[in-house]
Amino acid sequence: MTTSTSAPGPKHANVLLPEIKTPLPGPRGKALIDRDKKVMSASYTRDYPFVMDRGEGCIAWDPDGNSFLDLCAGIAVCATGHSHPKVVEAITEQAGRFLHMSGTDFYYDVQIRLAERLTAAAPVKGPGPNRVFFSNSGAESVEGAIKLARHFTGGHNNIAFYGAFHGRTMGALSLTASRNVQRKGFSPFLPGISHATYGEPVENIEMILKRTVDPESIGALFVESIQGEGGYIIPKAEWLLGLRDMCDRWGMLLVSDEVQSGMGRTGKLFACEHFGLKPDIICTAKGLASGLPLGCFIAREEVMSWGPGQHGTTFGGNPVACAAANATMDLLEEWMMENARDTGAYFLEKLKELQERVPSFKGARGIGLMIAIDCVDSDGNFSPDLRNAIVDEAYLHGLLILGCGAHAIRFCPALCIAREQVDWAITALEKTVAALKK
Ligand code: PLP
Repeated sequence: MTTSTSAPGPKHANVLLPEIKTPLPGPRGKALIDRDKKVMSASYTRDYPFVMDRGEGCIAWDPDGNSFLDLCAGIAVCATGHSHPKVVEAITEQAGRFLHMSGTDFYYDVQIRLAERLTAAAPVKGPGPNRVFFSNSGAESVEGAIKLARHFTGGHNNIAFYGAFHGRTMGALSLTASRNVQRKGFSPFLPGISHATYGEPVENIEMILKRTVDPESIGALFVESIQGEGGYIIPKAEWLLGLRDMCDRWGMLLVSDEVQSGMGRTGKLFACEHFGLKPDIICTAKGLASGLPLGCFIAREEVMSWGPGQHGTTFGGNPVACAAANATMDLLEEWMMENARDTGAYFLEKLKELQERVPSFKGARGIGLMIAIDCVDSDGNFSPDLRNAIVDEAYLHGLLILGCGAHAIRFCPALCIAREQVDWAITALEKTVAALKK
């Protein structure tokens, strides 16, 4: 483990940098992988053999003592970094008081406090007040939003987008249109779902609606304010606002799926804020509790008008997860959301410089710390194979990254990442591409 000596920001004292000490994976990691392979579902997708042993901020150690720069944060989940002491302290304190009491049947302070903060901060379409329902995951938040929109509008027809990922439970999967492997073999899906192209002119979407949909049966349009799994695609503000207009004209609710883009990742609490979009329902999860399982959906009181028993959950809003979420929100407000803006802008600038030097990269894009770059072959064509090779090879250089879309690498590190770590990542990416050329 090395520590950078160049001046970090005040919140970035003792910036840690990775160090590889053994051939990868090391013997302890390899033994664990061998055991895992015998017992885990074959549906898990592991690109490269990284085994997690412990973490601190943006650094992850494997059981053989190698340390890596983690630019995936458990798929955009560990918002405040691995095991931030304030999050751990909040979890420990709550765990000592009580672990569970079922928030749909009883009352408790941590859940109420988190609900007050989220309903006050969420940019949902008014007039307020707003209300929140807590779930355990992104897919569960989307499922709840599907039900809520049906309940409020009486309509079962929904619109979603190609490239969208909304989760893998049957309702959410019916909206998901990201990769064939996720849907193949699981039909029939929910009826009444039309998919449109992300970014397609709103007039086209409306034309399809006019031809195919009974206005009485209209429910909700589900859109990611930045498309995540589909490739970190940033839409134009006018397009999202056009969808907002269309939903209003058709009496349809607009649901922004902020499971990946929410909770400060883009430098604002929710990505829709960058575009001036006010959704009727916001779904979020991932970064909400820095790694403990928690999701939610938020809507104005008029929309969340269902009665007792119409929706519920045993574990959703678990007190330990809520305590982690309150500590997460403290850190976001104190400095991490600002760091996502500042260090995110720095990261993007460095990637743009990188793509000038290294022709395997192009199309660097991002807002805050939701950043991606495309991989292209020597003819300049998008290359899924090269992307996959870079993701795998980067691991050998101490960099943990994941792909998104067909040919992009995504960078969704913890919101505490320091500029020195970004610099290190850029050098590691260059070394990775050079090694593949050998
Ligand atoms: N919605 C979006 C935008 C996501 O990115 C994801 C997960 O990647 C989900 C929903 C599903 O979340 P979960 O895996 O927690 O069910």
